[in-house]
Amino acid sequence: MRIRFFVHALLLGLALINSALAVDIDSLPIAAAVPGGVALVPTGGDAVSARYRNERVLLAEHEGTQYAIVGIPLSAKLGEHEVTLRLTDGGQTRRSFTVTDKKYVEQRLTITNERQVNPNNEDMVRINRESAEMNEAFSSWDESLQPVLRMRAPVEGVRSSSFGLRRFFNEQPRAPHSGMDIAAPEGTPIYAPAGGVVRATGNYFFNGNTIILDHGHGLITLYCHMNTIDVTPGQRVETGEQIGKVGQTGRVTGPHLHWSINLNNTRVDPALFIQD
Ligand SMILES: [Zn+2]
Repeated sequence: MRIRFFVHALLLGLALINSALAVDIDSLPIAAAVPGGVALVPTGGDAVSARYRNERVLLAEHEGTQYAIVGIPLSAKLGEHEVTLRLTDGGQTRRSFTVTDKKYVEQRLTITNERQVNPNNEDMVRINRESAEMNEAFSSWDESLQPVLRMRAPVEGVRSSSFGLRRFFNEQPRAPHSGMDIAAPEGTPIYAPAGGVVRATGNYFFNGNTIILDHGHGLITLYCHMNTIDVTPGQRVETGEQIGKVGQTGRVTGPHLHWSINLNNTRVDPALFIQD
C-alpha cells in the first residue's frame, strides 16, 4: 500500500513537472499581435509559467507546441514586447513579439442621462468601488478550470465590430470600447459560451446588470446591460447554460449585450475567439 502510494505520488510529481502548467487546448484564438489583440508566442516547450506586464499569462499546449497566449492592451505601444518564462529547470528566459498597428475608428454617442457622462461625487465613490470589485474578478487565476479559446457568441444577434472604438459621449472623449456589442431584443437569452465559475455579479453604474465568468488560467468573460441575471456568484455553469437575458441597464442607447473577453487582466477583441 505504502509503496503504491509512493509510486503514485512520484508519477504525479513527474507529470506535474513534465506537463508543467500548460493546459491542453483544442483550438487557439486567432492570432493578432495588435493593440487589443492576442499574441501566440511559442515558448520552446519547457515553460511552467509566463508573465507579461506583471500579469500571469495563459500557457497552452496545442498540437505538440506550447504557447504563451498573451492579451495585448488597447493602450500598448507598437514595437517589441516581451514575455518572461519560468522554465522547468528553475531558470528564466524571455520571448519577444512585435505589436503592429491597428486603426480603430471613432464612435460618437449621445447619452440622455448626463450623470452617466459626467458622474457626480457620490457616483464616483460608487464607480470606484465597482471598478475595484470588477478588477479583482478580472485578476482571478484559477487552475482548476479548463479554458476554451474558441467559443460560440453568447447571444444570437447583430454582432458589431465595435471593439476598440475611440469613443466620445456627448462630444467628450472617454475610454475606448473594450468589448463587443451584440444587438438583440430585450429578453433574448444569453448563454455561457464556455464552462466556468461565476466570479461576480452586480448592478453597476456604467455596466448595468453584470456577470463575470471565470473560465480558468486568466480567461474571464464579462456580460453587461442585462435585463435579468440568472446565476449567482460561486455557481458553476456549463457551456450553453442560460446565464441571463439581454436588457438595457446602465449606460446604453438601446438593448444589447456588451461582451468582453479578458486574458492576463487585459480586455481583448472577442471576435478573435468566436467559432464560426
Ligand atoms: Zn459595449
